[in-house]
Amino acid sequence: MTPRNANNMNTLGGKQTVGNTPKVNRRTKIVATVGPGSDSEDVLGRLIHAGVDVFRLNFSHGSAEGHARVAHRIRRQAGHAGRYVGILADLQGPKIRISGFREGSVSLIAGDPFCLDVNIDPNEGDNRRVGIEYTALPRQVAIDDVLLLDDGKLRLRVDDVSASAVECTVIIGGKLSSRKGVNKLGGGLAAPALTEKDLADIAHMATIEPDFVAVSFVSNRGDIDQARQLLADVGLKPSIIAKIERAEVVADFELLDTIITASDGIMVARGDLGVEVGDAQLIGIQKDLISRTRKLDRLVITATQMMESMITNSMPTRAEVFDVANAVLDGTDAVMLSAETAVGSFPIEVVAAMADAALGAECHPVARTSRYRLHREFTTPQEAIALSAMYGANHFAGVRGIAALTEAGTTPTMMSRLSSGLPIFGLSRQDKTLQTLALCRGVIPLYFDATAFAPEDVEARVLEFLLDGGYLRRGDFIIMTKGSTVGQTGMTDSMKILLVS
Ligand code: PGA
Ligand code: MN
Repeated sequence: MTPRNANNMNTLGGKQTVGNTPKVNRRTKIVATVGPGSDSEDVLGRLIHAGVDVFRLNFSHGSAEGHARVAHRIRRQAGHAGRYVGILADLQGPKIRISGFREGSVSLIAGDPFCLDVNIDPNEGDNRRVGIEYTALPRQVAIDDVLLLDDGKLRLRVDDVSASAVECTVIIGGKLSSRKGVNKLGGGLAAPALTEKDLADIAHMATIEPDFVAVSFVSNRGDIDQARQLLADVGLKPSIIAKIERAEVVADFELLDTIITASDGIMVARGDLGVEVGDAQLIGIQKDLISRTRKLDRLVITATQMMESMITNSMPTRAEVFDVANAVLDGTDAVMLSAETAVGSFPIEVVAAMADAALGAECHPVARTSRYRLHREFTTPQEAIALSAMYGANHFAGVRGIAALTEAGTTPTMMSRLSSGLPIFGLSRQDKTLQTLALCRGVIPLYFDATAFAPEDVEARVLEFLLDGGYLRRGDFIIMTKGSTVGQTGMTDSMKILLVS
């Protein structure tokens, strides 16, 4: 891929002022799901322009070949825009679903019996019974359990369980269509995280080269390790995102921390998680998940139904703007759009609305103030440098930004775990690193090949580069970090305060 010029990097989705005031870039990143409503070359280009940082390919829908074609379009459009945009491949996982109804859908009435039966043929369901592909279901439910259908819109109470069927009474009825999801209130339907389909999808990942792979319904660190190994077997090293969507995982802090540390980041998968724990509990869990993940130096995406009404409306509700803002104040790296951009009527508008909501929230001091881990010991020179740089930058009024020369992206990622109002310039010659940094809050990924210059010239070149790109003015200070051996991973060992003159 060709190096991109910083001068083209003027459409990071944030508002910016022209003249001699530096640009104001949005810090919170936007993940947008691609679907039939957004997979054309034209719409992808406009979505990038509107501010999408990472595209999510949802493997619950579509074919591996289709996703590979979309991935190529995304890379091409990102190249045209001169932007580093990440690709996240989201594996379907063991989402438990009912099979089909003869008529496509039925209407369930409260008080009526309804049976989930592994022996009913895929399209033979009616208003008394439906098939279920997950044959272990009868073994994992007990009398009086509550099953939730279609993201919790319908509820069933379990009355009786046999080897192959679960007999229920409808508690909350409504329309139920084929292939809707099944959850158990309180969690506990634990199919292995990687299904046959996921394994087949991983085998095809080399045609996509995703920057991130998300594992659905993770229940332990083994799920993450297995995904990482299978991807390595096909020659890929993407960042692994653990989707947190099981009630039993959020109930066990030790387990949770093990999963977070085994991954590169998590997704607060509010769709399934919310159904299992209830929305009223979810707000507290979201806050806890975000702060835990940041403390463990991992990334976090807040997902699902953030601007749901914009699937059909051209403007968000105030509640939706506040939901995005709240996640920003919680410290999330990214906010995610699902159906809004995949099938919605206003994909461009919803990205713009989300960008606006995030920028607004970022003005609040809570989004900028940090507690600096004052009572924690650093474990590597790299961490000591990264966090000292942030401390210095946030406390020295003349500093306009932090420039981190990086190979693998670890230093800028650590820096961005602390809140700040200052941009972190992630300067790298590795496309993969830059595309991965696209998810990282407050980090602006820019192509810069420090190995192309004599070591004694690098500092001056960095300043010149950022000045030319409009990121700095003369008279500003920046804090720069780098390794004394340029071009090596994990070697950041120095920080310097430089005056732009
Ligand atoms: P999904 O995951 O959209 O793949 O279900 C996200 C969620 O559950 O919120
Ligand atoms: Mn989910």
